[in-house]
Amino acid sequence: MQRPFEFDVVVIGSLNLDLVARTSRLPLPGETVTGSTFAQVAGGKGLNQAVAAARAGASVALVGAVGDDHAGATMRQVVLDEGIDDRWLVEIPDTPTGRAMITVDDDAENVIVVIRGANAWEGDDDQVLPTGRVVLGQLEVPQSRIERAFAAARQVGSTTILNPAPATELSDALLANTDLVIPNEHEVTLLGGSDQLRQRGVTTVVVTQGAAGTTIIDGTGERHSPAFSVSPIDTTGAGDAFCGALASQLADGADLTAAVRFGMGAGALATTIAGAVPSLPQRAAIDQLIGD
Ligand code: ADP
Repeated sequence: MQRPFEFDVVVIGSLNLDLVARTSRLPLPGETVTGSTFAQVAGGKGLNQAVAAARAGASVALVGAVGDDHAGATMRQVVLDEGIDDRWLVEIPDTPTGRAMITVDDDAENVIVVIRGANAWEGDDDQVLPTGRVVLGQLEVPQSRIERAFAAARQVGSTTILNPAPATELSDALLANTDLVIPNEHEVTLLGGSDQLRQRGVTTVVVTQGAAGTTIIDGTGERHSPAFSVSPIDTTGAGDAFCGALASQLADGADLTAAVRFGMGAGALATTIAGAVPSLPQRAAIDQLIGD
């Protein structure tokens, strides 16, 4: 039987190369301090969720943009190393790759400057997007790009998932083509609540609640599931692990309840390792934690 979709999961989203410096205290304006350590870390919600879906077993394409700089080449290599298709990763001339310059002090206080760079690319109407059983987007790239991708996805019968992070006003055109919205507790409040999202055309909302688990809200009511019990050391990446792993399961034919359970396993495991990309779990580890 011929597969109707090119990929299990198509992710539309951002890629960042983060520069992380540690110092004993943050510098004041005009001051120079000597840092203790430096790390260069691949991130961006688009990349993180694409990696999460690929490690959870899905075939994945990442639709995104990098600059024509060294960081862009570094990001493309990360994508390829994860077995993610990079043919829809566009290189934008005279533009830097998305960056976050992060300084963290001994009290874990931080200052962050984000340069959107290539992530601010508005997209190209002539770009023919890959088809995916599930199409997953976030809001670190212009909303118009997600809107166009979801409209095209609807036409071929994909399931569309929006992780509305960072939370911002959502257009009617976007919500009309969104099957599932996955906000965290903070984001769902900023978006006016799950009822309002459903009134605007979304079928299902899954609210992630950190160590408290998740709540599914759909036409049949609300169902809460407790989180898996782990010993967290760094919760960075839990939401991205959840979204990518859930998308991979839906693409595999799982029902929503099973996909949410699998996503919660991925989210829990992501809290047990520092960083985002390094903490995203493989399928076997998720299956082992959730006991399937
Ligand atoms: P975000 O990172 O977007 O704020 P959450 O913190 O809600 O997302 O995490 C997403 C999911 O990961 C949660 O719904 C939960 O299933 C899992 N998770 C997050 N933190 C923990 C934790 N401390 N213990 C167990 N599971 C967790």
